[in-house]
Amino acid sequence: AYRHIRIPTTGEKVSVRNGQVHVPDQPILGYVEGDGIGPDITRACLRIWDAAVEKAYGGKRKIHWCEVYLGEKAAGLYDGNYCPDETIKALADLVVSIKGPLTTPVGGGFRSLNVALRQDLDLYACVRPVRHYAGVPSPLKNPGKVDVVIFRENTEDVYTGIEYKAGSPENEKLARFLREEMKARFFDGAGLGVKPISSFGSKRLVRKAIQYAIDNGRESVTLVHKGNIMKFTEGAFRNWGYEVAREEFGAVTITEEQLYAEYKGKQPEGKIVIKDRIADIMFQMMLLRPEEFDVLATMNLNGDYLSDAIAAEVGGVGIAPGANIGDHVAVFEATHGTAPKYANQNKVNPGSLLFSGVMMLEYLGWKEAADLITLVYPEVVSDGIVTYDFARQIDGATEVGTSQFADALIERI
Ligand code: NAD
Repeated sequence: AYRHIRIPTTGEKVSVRNGQVHVPDQPILGYVEGDGIGPDITRACLRIWDAAVEKAYGGKRKIHWCEVYLGEKAAGLYDGNYCPDETIKALADLVVSIKGPLTTPVGGGFRSLNVALRQDLDLYACVRPVRHYAGVPSPLKNPGKVDVVIFRENTEDVYTGIEYKAGSPENEKLARFLREEMKARFFDGAGLGVKPISSFGSKRLVRKAIQYAIDNGRESVTLVHKGNIMKFTEGAFRNWGYEVAREEFGAVTITEEQLYAEYKGKQPEGKIVIKDRIADIMFQMMLLRPEEFDVLATMNLNGDYLSDAIAAEVGGVGIAPGANIGDHVAVFEATHGTAPKYANQNKVNPGSLLFSGVMMLEYLGWKEAADLITLVYPEVVSDGIVTYDFARQIDGATEVGTSQFADALIERI
């Protein structure tokens, strides 16, 4: 029994059967309103998603929303606890959820809420689709060529916090070991960090990226790495990536080498090309030749940088959606923060959360509802009906509030 969470008495839970996510027509899905601008954008988006589902399926399908609590709202209800155990339990139990941005309390021994969710629910893939919508301001000449989905590994790399401060006894112990036993050379007084990259972590991430490419008719999966310098971590990620492709998806994948050697560079029907690129070149390529890329699989740090850089090509993090996904459990989320100075002003852009919801509809297999939103969104923006952040970049735009922007979308759905 839950203390504050009320599971709706109508609708049915999403379940996992034989390793597959099973979605009933009337699923109960979780949502976290979020802090700061969270309530404004969540309120607007719930209306838009519900309208799209209603229009697409005329009542046959409907989402039964279950509010769960994190962040400041949770702290108010659960005696100062920002991340109640029952919320984690509910997110696991409901399988599919969506969340607004959350304040990370500074200091006081709090783990970042987002890190806590990723770890406790083992959401090892951070998924960020980045594409351009007509009318959205962009610094590129041809932003329409950008259409990639980034799968960023979420659980290892330099983010594991295995770090030792210069001058600390732990640091000195490790430094001594590295110098004396491993014959490593580095300057005195260096801070030391460890970068674990495992076969298990790399393979489950790349497996998910390839499966996504198959399910969504994508043409290639690019492994992004700096293996020329970090051979046994980044280079190993690349090698393990190719290994998964060959061993588990051999019938539907070919390497870029095979593409030229066996197929004269012409991609055969039904095959996904697996290729790899060095991380630094990848940043150039995404600016100069974005059309050559489709699904990207990255380690944690490279993916962190790359996803914000690519998002900036098509309208910035204000509209870029995202999700953290494990084997089955998925938490879709706005990728921006709580923008506290705009809280409760009905002012900000709901785009990031909105498109995270579109990803969620696609994850449910409700493509018709997802497509309705991606269809009307560029119509509204091209008519110059936008929130303040876009209004200041578009000549002659009509600035509207968050809820009026939602109204304009719903009218056309
Ligand atoms: P932020 O993303 O909250 O805001 C930075 C600026 O971006 C804002 O001042 C605003 O100008 C703009 N902005 C953000 N979202 C927008 C939107 N939807 N529409 C229009 N403009 C928007 O980043 P911050 O100020 O660095 O962080 C504020 C708080 O959010 C911190 O507590 C931080 O820890 C938290 N945070 C949470 C998440 C998350 O929950 N996923 C992510 C990042 C930051």
